[in-house]
Amino acid sequence: MSLTEARREYLRDYYRRAPERQYTATMRWKAEHPLRYAASKAALRANRNSAAAGVIDHLTMEDVLALWRRQPVCIVCGGGRGIDHIVPLIQGGSNAPDNIQTMCRPCNRAKGPGRRGFGKVIHAA
Ligand SMILES: [Zn+2]
Repeated sequence: MSLTEARREYLRDYYRRAPERQYTATMRWKAEHPLRYAASKAALRANRNSAAAGVIDHLTMEDVLALWRRQPVCIVCGGGRGIDHIVPLIQGGSNAPDNIQTMCRPCNRAKGPGRRGFGKVIHAA
């Protein structure tokens, strides 16, 4: 479901006049949509990291949700969700949906920056 531009503009104005209502609405949305919230955070983080690496394509919340439907758990430990770039951004990898896989943050941290295809290698063996 997407909001029309007019509705978006109305809400932008509404919240500009009373920022505390936006905070409340955001908190309610987060509580009601934990998966979408996690996906939007993951996409935001990926886009921030990719901007730092000079990558211009953007990952959307919908891209992340689609990934998590295909690959619901971390491909390394079977645990929580998160995303990992198969070809790391700093090695020229992109934010294209076929370059991301589900990996929890602890596994992603263990993988470290710049290591290519960690999860895929393990699961191909
Ligand atoms: Zn994991």
